[in-house]
Amino acid sequence: MIGFGATAQQQGDMMSDPESYEVYAIQYGNRGGRSKGESFLSPLLAADFHDVAQDMAYYVWLITNENRTVLVDTGFGRDELARRRAVLGPGWRMDYARSPAEGVAMLGFDPKAITDVIVTHLHYDHAGTTGDFPNAAFHLQEIEMSYATGPLMCHEALRFPYTVDFVVDMVRHLYNGRVKFIAGDAEFAPGITLHLTAGHTMGMQSVRVLTKRGWVVLASDASHFYDNVEAMAPFPIVTNVGDMLDSLRKLQRLAQTPQHIVPGHDPLVLARYPAPSAALQGAVVRLDVAPTE
Ligand SMILES: [Zn+2]
Repeated sequence: MIGFGATAQQQGDMMSDPESYEVYAIQYGNRGGRSKGESFLSPLLAADFHDVAQDMAYYVWLITNENRTVLVDTGFGRDELARRRAVLGPGWRMDYARSPAEGVAMLGFDPKAITDVIVTHLHYDHAGTTGDFPNAAFHLQEIEMSYATGPLMCHEALRFPYTVDFVVDMVRHLYNGRVKFIAGDAEFAPGITLHLTAGHTMGMQSVRVLTKRGWVVLASDASHFYDNVEAMAPFPIVTNVGDMLDSLRKLQRLAQTPQHIVPGHDPLVLARYPAPSAALQGAVVRLDVAPTE
């Protein structure tokens, strides 16, 4: 603590200088066979776009600089892929490219060396494979854990995007001392802030990261596609529509420009940002450099 009489220099020393990071989106799968109309709660938009194809891409994100490396979300693994195919049948088409840990390794990072994972929410496609990161602490919003284990899960319509084994895994991590809770908006580390963006789930959070092009906002499922945030058009998997709309506005406030918002499932992210190397083309893009369009 700084006492009375501390000089401006001393106070400056106590403030954490914001640090700048490289940020990567790692795609682990892609789901075709869906229409753009499925991305909108609005019946008018759903009707307008019912015959327009729109794939859904699946990502995790990696934030890194010389001081720390942080993974955002852990996707899901091949076990879950097989389970969903069995339950949902041939209508659910998913091209699974790599596990999130394999993607992290492709970028040159050892999954076992990851010590911090920010979990944006506990839905099946964001909170599986935690076993692949055995030395990580998991950072999630308090309300997400209570939501995923509380009375609203009596509703099939709200629990279907959760996989109970992944929720139970997180409870086990909690009892092993590996869960760190956040309540609302908070600084995670110098240059990384977390923001409650409720609506899709009660405890949805988005991540804001300082990069050399400014503050980039990893929306995750606060905005599945560019269309959701740009048109203020809620996605239909939703717990509270008013909260979701407020959170779309919040994303707009947090980002320096619309080009600084990175949606959670849009295949256009892979098209708009450059791959870090030719070998990673189609699998990983850099988000700390400006998009091409
Ligand atoms: Zn998702």
